[in-house]
Amino acid sequence: MKLYNLKHPDEVASFKQAVLQSLGRDNGLFFPLQIPKLSGIDGLLDQPFVDRSSLILQHLLGEELGNELVDQLVRSAFSFPVPVVPVDERISTLELFHGPTLAFKDFGARFMARVMSHLIERGDHTGPLTILTATSGDTGAAVAHAFYGLPDIQVVVLYPNHRISPLQEKLFCTLGGNIHTIAVEADFDACQSLAKTCFTDGDFVQRYGLNSANSINVARLIAQVTYYFEAAAQSHGKAPVVSVPSGNFGNLTAGLIAQSLGAPIKAFVAGTNANDTVPRYLHSGTWEAHDTIATMSNAMDVSSPNNWPRIEELFATSLRSLRVELRSCTVSEAETSAAIKALYDRGYLSEPHGAVAYASLVKNLEDTESGIFLGTAHPAKFWQSVEQILGIQVELPEELIAVEGKPVLSTTISPDVVTLKALIERLW
Ligand SMILES: *Cc1c(COP(=O)(O)O)cnc(C)c1O
Repeated sequence: MKLYNLKHPDEVASFKQAVLQSLGRDNGLFFPLQIPKLSGIDGLLDQPFVDRSSLILQHLLGEELGNELVDQLVRSAFSFPVPVVPVDERISTLELFHGPTLAFKDFGARFMARVMSHLIERGDHTGPLTILTATSGDTGAAVAHAFYGLPDIQVVVLYPNHRISPLQEKLFCTLGGNIHTIAVEADFDACQSLAKTCFTDGDFVQRYGLNSANSINVARLIAQVTYYFEAAAQSHGKAPVVSVPSGNFGNLTAGLIAQSLGAPIKAFVAGTNANDTVPRYLHSGTWEAHDTIATMSNAMDVSSPNNWPRIEELFATSLRSLRVELRSCTVSEAETSAAIKALYDRGYLSEPHGAVAYASLVKNLEDTESGIFLGTAHPAKFWQSVEQILGIQVELPEELIAVEGKPVLSTTISPDVVTLKALIERLW
């Protein structure tokens, strides 16, 4: 698979290079030169999830990595179920939270960690490798778990202090070993910009083998393409409208790539919380990022989504109109609570992110259509909100019980790049 830098289209990279570099010159995002359509879609949809996912990723990466290796990586990364659960006659949810850290980010992070570990093993990367990633909650957990204990890799995770749930924090800040967690006294956008600043220092990047494992890395993006085919496969021959709860818009980018590959998906709904830069842009044509607002669906508290240029590119190169085709919607805190209640009344326990997607779908689904919203996190991960809204007690799954009593090992810093760099230097 060949990719080009959206800022400097003459910079072309292989998949391996793009994974190792994560960003191109001037922090440009890598984007596939071609998205070749899959043939035999119907047969593909009949396959079980892991077999199908392996074939899809072989189609994209097999030429470069070899089909056998791609198959191995997929089987070891996607080792948990991906059920579709009906909520009512026309609406179902695709549950993406059955991995080890109970959110959809396990798909991308586990695949990426396995790819990188393989590249180190075969000598495609030598010297230090430092994963530096900013998280609004779930990325940190997924990346930390996916890379925990891998030889020759140090992981530094930045997150906004006091703005992620205490259990979310326990899930990734209690590991130790090669996982270094840093609570920054600022919001998520400031964390993201701290990380970006480190990446603009070429010498520093080189010396410590800096790599971002957040959703700008193509390994994550490509892995996430697979479950959109599951949504289509479970829709009984009728192309669904798929609603994606969006923050950095990596998940939606993967969905649009799946559709370009041939996944029968009728349309997408981009649902956001009050951090609604994209819905406002699609309605008004003006891009205007406001200050980030803290909400219940905190993994989506992003006002400058870093995957957006990829979505623009995808529509531009296929001559499709974003503002005509992409449905979008902003969901308030009150509407999120109401959606959690409405789902519970239908016998389904959700959480704020899934509820934003559900509310967005209900508002954007026509009478003749059927829809699927993505369940991106386990309700127990956000039990405080869920319990407060429903007045019930949420049972914790074993993954959370195991970390509940462990001490948080994070270092707290102010949003200062010099402090951060000194900290990274001390790891090697
Ligand atoms: C990260 C995350 C999102 C947002 O996904 P993006 O790819 O950043 O748009 C939604 N829900 C949950 C639970 C998340 O962790």
